[in-house]
Amino acid sequence: MSYNLASVVENFTGFPRPAVMHELPALLHKNRTLSDEELKGLIETDQFDFDLVALADSVRREYYGTDVYLRGLIEFTNYCRNNCLYCGIRNGNQTLERYRLSEEEILDCCKTGYELGYRTFVLQGGDDPGYGDEKIIKLVAKIRERYEDCAITLSFGEKPAKSYRAFFESGADRYLLRHETANEPHYRQLHPQTMDLKKRQDCLWNLKEIGYEVGSGFLVGSPYQTTQCLIEDLRFLQHLQPDMIGIGPFIAHHATPFHDFANGPLRLTLRMISILRLMFPNILIPATTALGTIDPHGREHGLRCGANVVMPNLSPVAVRKKYELYDNKICTGEEAAECRHCLERRVTNAGYKIVTHIGNAKPLISSRRETGPQS
Ligand code: SAH
Repeated sequence: MSYNLASVVENFTGFPRPAVMHELPALLHKNRTLSDEELKGLIETDQFDFDLVALADSVRREYYGTDVYLRGLIEFTNYCRNNCLYCGIRNGNQTLERYRLSEEEILDCCKTGYELGYRTFVLQGGDDPGYGDEKIIKLVAKIRERYEDCAITLSFGEKPAKSYRAFFESGADRYLLRHETANEPHYRQLHPQTMDLKKRQDCLWNLKEIGYEVGSGFLVGSPYQTTQCLIEDLRFLQHLQPDMIGIGPFIAHHATPFHDFANGPLRLTLRMISILRLMFPNILIPATTALGTIDPHGREHGLRCGANVVMPNLSPVAVRKKYELYDNKICTGEEAAECRHCLERRVTNAGYKIVTHIGNAKPLISSRRETGPQS
């Protein structure tokens, strides 16, 4: 493999350029999988980063050119019955002022978003018992009726299959539910004993079966995470074959049990994005807000390392600070239009282009290999 595809990485991040391309990134590019031992080798050192980024960018260009898709994020409730140890909106955080947007307010966000060119609305929130199925069904149906040409994405945690089905039938198309970590003991270290990895994974399988386009993902650098955990995350995703994979660094929140833990590293997060792009060439990968929070140019780096989606905030400014998943979360002060323009600038500066269509995942070009995942 020659380096003529790699100009994009030469002037950013300072990843050292090796004299010849290493074998492991080229092998991952070719086969879309590696053995556990080989993955460990890639994850634990920075010596392959230049090659990984160059190849990941070439693959994203093969599928998506320079296109970056938009998702308008509406954080509609910060009430949550769960108590995930890393999360700032956990039930146990009594210092947080809680809010719940009304149907009217959510529809207003959609209107603003539509005018700004968004063709996907993501309704994200805590697992809020005050937003029961009936309310969600009614809301989704209204959005569907008003915006026929838009995708409706839901993301508010674990629900019974019959609820997911009812949301789908009322017009929702996509669901985001990160598995967070695929390693069982690690899952127990990050969550209260009332939560269960298998239950969360079953939700993802149910969503797929119902017909949703599914997004999953994991935290990078969460407390107690090992390389083995990350490898298991990749294996689970190979098994699940989602349409979107969102990852971001763990960031400490002052009012959680993990307040003293270090944030997930930028470099490792970028490396994992490139590895994901090579394993799953055609999927949607967001450059997340968490990435932009640990580094002022984190999202731009994410795009150059293989991400192809950004999720500007559409929530009313008055509630933004209250959707505080972690400390110092960015984009909490600007109006929706400012957020849109700020991201447009960032995407352009990174060398890509925002497109305003619905932004579905492209089909996989299957000429390269078909050996399937090793699980
Ligand atoms: N209730 C929904 C949405 C949770 S918030 C659900 O269960 O899916 C969305 C995502 O934010 C989570 O999936 C988690 O990966 C991420 N997140 C939560 N706390 C975080 C933290 N401290 N640092 C980084 N990401 C965090």
